[in-house]
Amino acid sequence: MNANVTEVFGSNVFNDAVMRQRLPKNIYRQFKKNIEDRRPLESALADVIANAMKDWAVEKGATHFCHWFQPMTGLTAEKHDAFIAPTPDGRTIMEFSGKELTRGEPDASSFPSGGLRATFEARGYTAWDCTSPVFVKTDGTNTTLYIPCAFCSYTGEALDKKTPLLRSMDALDRQAIRVLHALGQTGPQHVTGTLGPEQEYFLVDQRFYEQRLDLVLTGRTLFGAASPRGQELEDHYFGALHERVASFMSEVNTELWKLGVSAKTQHNEVAPAQYEIAPVFESVNVATDNNQLTMETLRKVALRHRFACLLHEKPFKGVNGSGKHNNWSLVTDTGRNLLDPGDTPHDNMVFLVFLCAVIRAVDKYARLLRASVANAGNEHRLGANEAPPAIVSIFLGDQLNDIFEQLAAGGAKSSRQGGELKLGVSTLPPLPKDCTDRNRTSPFAFTGNKFEFRMVGSTQSTSGPTFVLNTIVADILSEIADELEQAKNMPTTVQNILHRIAVEHKRIVFNGDNYSPDWITEAKQRGLPNMVSTAEALLIIMNPDHVSLFERHGVLTEPELHARTEILFEAYNKAIQIEARTMIRITRRQILPACIQYAGQVATSMTAVKAAGEVVSTMEKTLTQTNRLLEQLGKATDTLEQLLKQIESIETAADQACHCRDMIIPSMNAVREAADSLEMIVDSQLWPLPTYSEMLFLR
Ligand code: ADP
Ligand code: MG
Repeated sequence: MNANVTEVFGSNVFNDAVMRQRLPKNIYRQFKKNIEDRRPLESALADVIANAMKDWAVEKGATHFCHWFQPMTGLTAEKHDAFIAPTPDGRTIMEFSGKELTRGEPDASSFPSGGLRATFEARGYTAWDCTSPVFVKTDGTNTTLYIPCAFCSYTGEALDKKTPLLRSMDALDRQAIRVLHALGQTGPQHVTGTLGPEQEYFLVDQRFYEQRLDLVLTGRTLFGAASPRGQELEDHYFGALHERVASFMSEVNTELWKLGVSAKTQHNEVAPAQYEIAPVFESVNVATDNNQLTMETLRKVALRHRFACLLHEKPFKGVNGSGKHNNWSLVTDTGRNLLDPGDTPHDNMVFLVFLCAVIRAVDKYARLLRASVANAGNEHRLGANEAPPAIVSIFLGDQLNDIFEQLAAGGAKSSRQGGELKLGVSTLPPLPKDCTDRNRTSPFAFTGNKFEFRMVGSTQSTSGPTFVLNTIVADILSEIADELEQAKNMPTTVQNILHRIAVEHKRIVFNGDNYSPDWITEAKQRGLPNMVSTAEALLIIMNPDHVSLFERHGVLTEPELHARTEILFEAYNKAIQIEARTMIRITRRQILPACIQYAGQVATSMTAVKAAGEVVSTMEKTLTQTNRLLEQLGKATDTLEQLLKQIESIETAADQACHCRDMIIPSMNAVREAADSLEMIVDSQLWPLPTYSEMLFLR
């Protein structure tokens, strides 16, 4: 199908090659220099660039442009404006100014603002993020020029996912460079976080999807008895692709390649009907934009193939949920991956400093990392009998773990023996490139030359978890830089830092099975937090330590962090309430009527058969059982309705979240239990919802 991938790739992106071709040389050079120096764009430059962009986009069939931004819904937002500028003689020309390119003024009042909106004016601004490429996208017959943007309120508070991510990149850059320069690595001038998010998803035939209000409205099944066959055969993971699915994937790839998204890996995942797509890594900012495009494209292309793509963290009870594995590392502008173990001891020193910085950051701010992946969907994965657990720990693998232990021991030794272990690592054998085994259960695993943060939910923007990771690592790097910059004897100082971290943060390293119940006990003994619920996790965000962390690094102000926390609580509360309401609707209008009809049919048959003088014990038993469950379902639904009402009288979003967790969710579970039991005895002809077997196994 894709005759020429190299031609297709990036064909709808206003990328470097296009810019070089279309912009006057001096403008191009100035623009590149601007980005390199991380300076904002001057308006004269912007006008020329905008015009070139418009010409290019119009040639591609675009009629409109839009500022494409990422409000706190976790999705993207776009408002299209045509390039047209009517002329006095009744015709039009196509126009696009530098001002239109660089700044927009959407009304911010209809996006989640977590209270910022009440305090400040409704006006909002979008600003071009020139570090993420502009592209042209066609939906149906409409073609538009997309301009990736940050979004803030009238007074400059970030109202989006991109702004804190960009700020965290700056923070990480500043602190990493301080460390590198202090270590004598003066070549690099900038350090960037890199991200390669693996995206998991389910595909369900559209005809089943349409018959399930729960999937349509909540993205997950609120009902459904387990299929007699689930994932126990372990035959789906990496299995041969179904033809219909393969065609879908192929089209997804083509669409993504056009947009310059480097979709690279595709395969069947663990659960039946579950799949994965992964790109080649990019800067965290571009990768986050591209992951949004990936999720959107998966959904869009699925429809063309009469599939519904489910991105929810747990669409089906009893089979694996979906996550997003955020592969993360740090790269210098000279092209060095700072988490690459390298070959020589000298390189190892830099590597070990950054490795230990990450380890300390993850241990010190484990709660915050956990909070960064807390949402209603992920609650079904983390800590709910599925790997990874809600306990944050780090997998290092045998070799690194050994070195980490040596650092703990060696530090003490070097203080006794003076210069013997000068660089702390000079006596260690060089690390082989691939120094880790696999541990699929770890929430935060070192995998060769990067960390893989596996707790991220499949629907989530990668921004949140990534800006938290960037910020906490920046924080530890700044501590280390403070110490290194004062160092009289650099090797000893480095040695001491590594030793201290290895001793102090040993507890966060766990190479065993994160899935096992023993780990929960052990983690508790080690003092590691285990925040199973979303409410619990969100409650710690506003801890004074966290507020000062984000303020210190200029990533979020206290009001911004507070607003975000409110938004996260509200999103959770709304999600649970929508689920509860959907559940009540389906029960009352679909499940109860079907069961009543079935009970009636059995009763009628029973009367007739009994009148004929026959034995009716099975019918009687079926009727009794059906009616008992029917009563149970009716009562449970009444209770759920009452509990749902109560939420209106609860004041704070945090208290509402606790009510959802403690009252509504258990009540929803009771409704489901009765309904799922009924599904197993009621006539399949009458059952109103497609079953798990159909959805998971029919393609
Ligand atoms: P695996 O998880 O099986 O090791 P890969 O090595 O293919 O798989 O990596 C998975 C993801 O990690 C891919 O998206 C890949 O681009 C990304 N990745 C690889 N190296 C880095 C890096 N240095 N920084 C960030 N992501 C990376
Ligand atoms: Mg992986």
